[in-house]
Amino acid sequence: MIEEGSLVLPGDVLATSEELFPGYGTKDVGGDIIGTMIGKFFINKRRTAAEIKPLTSVPAVLKDGDTVICEVRRVTDKMVLMDVLHIAGTNREAVGDKDAAIRVSDIANEYVVSARDKYRIGDIVRAKVTQAKPALRVSTAGDNLGTIKSFCSECRVPLVRKGSVLECPRCGRTEKRKTASDYGKGNIDKKGDTDRR
Ligand SMILES: [Zn+2]
Repeated sequence: MIEEGSLVLPGDVLATSEELFPGYGTKDVGGDIIGTMIGKFFINKRRTAAEIKPLTSVPAVLKDGDTVICEVRRVTDKMVLMDVLHIAGTNREAVGDKDAAIRVSDIANEYVVSARDKYRIGDIVRAKVTQAKPALRVSTAGDNLGTIKSFCSECRVPLVRKGSVLECPRCGRTEKRKTASDYGKGNIDKKGDTDRR
């Protein structure tokens, strides 16, 4: 079981179903109690349940230059569609438009043929807001931008970085992503910068 008060991301394994029941913000996936939102882990002692206290307080409007943590909802060849989960470095909740899009040309500095080669559903991505209005556009063209957590397409467990690929510790499958330089560290409050050449 992880330490109470730890900051957790969607998909983090918090405990086993033998230790705790799933509660608010968690679910039981094959015997693992997994977080479904960003927030702080705590144990509801009355219900013996793993719960998450969401990391949100004052609502905020997103602006150009903000660094955001997003979850990928849909990927096409030309576009990645995501939900904004958190604004880095703040305790503010995003209000208004929470649908963020990355155009294929804004994924990386190098040419990307299809967005499907770089992101998959469920990826947790650090991105920089390039246009807040009228529709939220973000970019991941920078070393410290990209996915900070990705899951195996087969078994849904978090992938571990191994050289230039990500590997599943359960089934051994390898997958490719546009990763942030600090992939896997869970730094949701680090600011990211685009470095377009
Ligand atoms: Zn796997």
